[in-house]
Amino acid sequence: MKRAHNFCAGPAALPTAVLERAQAEMLDWHGKGLSVMEMSHRSDEYVAIAEKAEQDLRELMNVPNHYKVLFMQGGASQQFAQIPLNLLPEGATADYVETGIWSKKAIEEGRRFGNVNVAASGKSLDYFAIPGQNDWQLTPDAAYLHYCSNETIGGVQFDWVPEVGDVPVVVDMSSDILSRPVDVSQFGMIYAGAQKNIGPSGLVVAIIREDLIGRARAICPTMLDYKTAADNGSMYNTPATYSWYLAGLVFEWVKEQGGVEAMARRNHAKQELLYSTIDASEFYSNPVSKNARSWMNVPFRLADERLDKAFLAGADARGLLNLKGHRSVGGMRASIYNATGLDAVEALVAYMAEFEKEHA
Ligand code: PMP
Repeated sequence: MKRAHNFCAGPAALPTAVLERAQAEMLDWHGKGLSVMEMSHRSDEYVAIAEKAEQDLRELMNVPNHYKVLFMQGGASQQFAQIPLNLLPEGATADYVETGIWSKKAIEEGRRFGNVNVAASGKSLDYFAIPGQNDWQLTPDAAYLHYCSNETIGGVQFDWVPEVGDVPVVVDMSSDILSRPVDVSQFGMIYAGAQKNIGPSGLVVAIIREDLIGRARAICPTMLDYKTAADNGSMYNTPATYSWYLAGLVFEWVKEQGGVEAMARRNHAKQELLYSTIDASEFYSNPVSKNARSWMNVPFRLADERLDKAFLAGADARGLLNLKGHRSVGGMRASIYNATGLDAVEALVAYMAEFEKEHA
């Protein structure tokens, strides 16, 4: 069996060990004679699987007791609506920071539900940098502040957490959760679509401070009220059982690797190798300002875009997959999440050097 180096932005590479374990357990989970996919979500076995996944995530992120961990569906995009429905009372204002395509989508959706103040925007910086907090126009009594810690498409990442006093900070951590340590107590809510550092797509994990639960508007559908999920152990309806199980296997794997600190060390080494290769060359470039460069998604351009096709074909032939940049920006993008090892980045930079020698 051959596993390629997969640089896909999402659904992204999963650890081979996790897939092997899922494969081994596929037909007969722990001698029970059935697959996790075929289990009742109310069975003792499945409830134990679900609870262990939550417990492991709590341990990995050191989640304080007064936060709920919810496993929901609809991906991160559904949260763009669910957040204002739950946290933005009618007439109130929510602050949003615009740093790229994903935070912009959250802003557009938020506007459907109430007053949205764009407190800061990276637009005038072509989204290649993050405006410093001193320049933000914050609402003193905002219902919450929303930002995206890592813009998956632009490759722009916060290396700091906004400080806005008592205003709850809500963060879209879809593409950098578990990639390095964070202090959960700095946030009102953290959410992440699963398909990068957690597991299969469709699942979204949210970590919410308890006092923010139970504030949904009257019109909020039952299924979208965080209280419904919180009161029912994320099992008001049938949850995405298999995705949740797989997320649990990934959490176990992260723990075995040494937790988020170990992930951070690996991720630091990976991004350093890739950016230093890009910076040392005249042939490749990355426009993002150094303190906002993403450790997870590294967009880069070739000096001559007419070579893009040849670059991608050569990469494919070497088992370096999914390097094409997002359709909205073009160029290349290497997504190097937790499951992508340093060996994958080494193979990529070796290919980049070879291609440059041939074509520069
Ligand atoms: N936010 C970010 C930062 C993302 O990268 C993505 C997906 N790539 C989303 C939100 C949307 O996630 P989903 O497709 O799960 O709705």
